[in-house]
Amino acid sequence: MADLNQESQKPRRARGPARPPQSGGPSIWMQLAMAFAVFLVLSAGYSLVRQYVVSEAETVPLSQIASDVAAGKIESLLVEGDAITATYADETKKKSRKETEASLTETLANYQVSQEQIGAVKIEIKDEGGARFWFLTLAPLMVPVLLLFGIIWYLSRQMRGAGMQAFTFGRSMARLTSPEDQVQRVTFADVAGAKEAKEELTEIVDFLKNPKKFIQIGARIPKGVLLMGAAGTGKTLLARAVAGESNVPFFSISGSEFVEMFVGVGASRVRDTFQVAKKASPSILFIDEIDAIGRVRGTGVGGGNDEREQTLNQILVELDGFEPNEKVIVMAATNRPDVLDPALVRPGRFDRRVVIDLPDRKDREDILKVHARQKPLGPDVRLTVIAERTPGFSGADLANLMNEGAILAARENRKEITQYDLIRSIEKVMLGPERRSHVLNKKEKEITAYHEAGHALVASVLPYADPVHKISIISRGRAAGYTLKLPFEDRKMQSRKEFLDDIAVSLGGYVAERMIFGDITTGAANDLQVLSALARNMVARYGMSEKMGPIAFAASAQRAIFGEGVEGGEQSEEVASQIDAEVKRIIEGAHKKAEGVLKKHRKALDAIAGQLVEVETIERDDFEKILIAHGITPKKKEDIEHQPLA
Ligand code: ADP
Ligand code: ZN
Repeated sequence: MADLNQESQKPRRARGPARPPQSGGPSIWMQLAMAFAVFLVLSAGYSLVRQYVVSEAETVPLSQIASDVAAGKIESLLVEGDAITATYADETKKKSRKETEASLTETLANYQVSQEQIGAVKIEIKDEGGARFWFLTLAPLMVPVLLLFGIIWYLSRQMRGAGMQAFTFGRSMARLTSPEDQVQRVTFADVAGAKEAKEELTEIVDFLKNPKKFIQIGARIPKGVLLMGAAGTGKTLLARAVAGESNVPFFSISGSEFVEMFVGVGASRVRDTFQVAKKASPSILFIDEIDAIGRVRGTGVGGGNDEREQTLNQILVELDGFEPNEKVIVMAATNRPDVLDPALVRPGRFDRRVVIDLPDRKDREDILKVHARQKPLGPDVRLTVIAERTPGFSGADLANLMNEGAILAARENRKEITQYDLIRSIEKVMLGPERRSHVLNKKEKEITAYHEAGHALVASVLPYADPVHKISIISRGRAAGYTLKLPFEDRKMQSRKEFLDDIAVSLGGYVAERMIFGDITTGAANDLQVLSALARNMVARYGMSEKMGPIAFAASAQRAIFGEGVEGGEQSEEVASQIDAEVKRIIEGAHKKAEGVLKKHRKALDAIAGQLVEVETIERDDFEKILIAHGITPKKKEDIEHQPLA
C-alpha cells in the first residue's frame, strides 16, 4: 500500500541490459587452421621460387664440368664456397658443386684434367660472406619466423576487434576497451543531455588529444576527476565517451573489486592497475564505486576495515606519485560523495568534480531518442509524452524503458513499437514486473482499496499536493497497491506548504483504514516511515519549523559533503527533544487535516474504493469523473503553476 511518490520510493533496479557477447566471426580454431594453411602454401611457393632463382643455370655433375674443361669448352669458372658456376664459350652457364675439403684444382686434377687445361680457364674465387650468401642461408629460416609473428599479430587484433576486452592484466583485473574497438566505442554523441558535464570533460579530452600544448605552457594537468551522480545517470558512459573522444585506451575496474577477494591483495592490485594504465599512457583509468574503498576512515562506518584502508592509502600514494606529465587521467564514479574520505579530494588528487543530475524533461526526451535509434517506432509514438510522464527516471531507467517497449512489441509479433507499449513500460520500469500470481483475498482487497482511495482523495483536495495520475490495487513489486501522484513538472525546490500537504497525503491511507475498519494494517508502515523522515527533515534541515528557527541541525551520523561545512553536529539532549516535539506537532497537524478531508468527503471515498475493488485500476480521467460527481474540482495545471511559493 505504498504511496508511490516517485522521488522517495523509486525502487532500485538492475542496470540496462548487458551487451550481448559478440559472435558471428569464425572461431579461433578455424582461424588458426586457415593461418596454418596459408603458411604451408607460402612456404611451398617460397621453396619453388628459391630453386628457380638460385639455379637459373642448369646443374650438371662435376665430372661433366671436368671433361668440358679438358675439352676447352669452358671460358671461366666462378667458385663460391662449394658452388661452381661454369661459363662456356657460347655464354651459357652451368652449375655444379665440389667437395667441401678439396680445392677446385685438386678436384679437377682428380678427374684427370691437366695443369695446362686448367690454366686455360679463367678461375675466379669469390668470398662466400657476401650479402647474397647470407640472404640465401637465412631466408629459409626467417620466412617462417616472420610468418609466425604475422599470425600472432593478426590474431590478437582479431580478438580485440571481437570485443574480447576482458584481458586480465597481471593481477590488476582492469578491463580494457581499446580505441580500435569500434563496437564498444562510445562518444559524446551517445550521451544525451548532461550538457554541463560534457563541457567540463571536454577539457580532459583536449588534454589527452594534445598533451604537449598543455605541458609546454606549464599548465598543471588534472589527475583525478570525480563523477558524482545517482545510479544510472551515465557516469560510466561519460567516462567511456571521454576515452572514445580522445582515442585512448580505457581501463575500468570497480572499487569493490579491489577489496573483495583475498585479504592483502587490494593494495597490490591497485599498484598493478596503475602500472598497466601508465604503460598504455595516454590513457584513462576508471574506478567505479570508489566509495567502496574511499569511505571516511576511522568512523567505524563500514567496520573500520584495515584492508580497505590499505587499499585507499595505496590509491593516494599512486595519485601523489604521478609525474606531472604522466598522461593518465583517473576518473572515479560515486553516488555517495557524502561518505568519501576528504583525503581523496584534496588538490592534486580528485580535484575535478563533475556533478551529473537526473535528466530533466528535455534531456529525458533526448535520451529516449538515443535509445530509439536502432528500434522501429510506430507512427503514433510521441517520445515527448513519455518524457513528460517519467520524472525521476535516470538514463539507465529510460534505456530500460525503451528496451521493455521493444520486448512487448516482439512478444506480440509486431514489427514496430507503439506508444502504448512505451506507456506500459513506464510502469514496468517504475514498479517492477506485475505480480498477477499474488491475489489479494476479498478482505485484503477492500482494505487496500480504502487505503489507496484515502491517499488519492487527500491528494485531490489539498491545494499543494501533486495531482493523482493513477490508482491501483494490483500488487506491484513490494507494494500491495499504489497511488501515483505526479507533479506537473519537475521541480528542484519544494515549499513548506507542499511538504505539509505531502505528509497529510501520506497519512491518507492510514486514516482511511482506521476510519472504515477501526483497525490498522502493516500496509501503512512504509507510509509512516516516509512521512516521519520528511517531517524530521523539515525541522532539522530545512528550517521550516518556526519554533526551532532557521538552523540546520546536522545529525551526528550525517556528514556534510567531503567533510567540509557543518562538522560534528552533535546536539544536546534538550535540543533533540525539542526537535522530536516539533516533528510530532507537524505530523499531528497533518493527521487532523487528512481526517477532516476524508470525513467531509466520505461519500467520494466510498465511491473511489468501490470502483477500485471492482476494476482494480483507475486512470486519471475516470478518477476525475468520480471527483466531479462528488463536487470536487480536479486540479488543473494552471492552478498549480500560479500557486505562490511559501
Ligand atoms: P552509472 O555509471 O552512472 O551508474 P551508466 O553509465 O552505467 O550509469 O549508465 C547505464 C546505461 O544507461 C548506459 O549504458 C546508457 O545506456 C544509459 N544512459 C545513462 N545515461 C545516459 C545518457 N545521458 N544518454 C544516453 N544513455 C544513457
Ligand atoms: Zn499507503
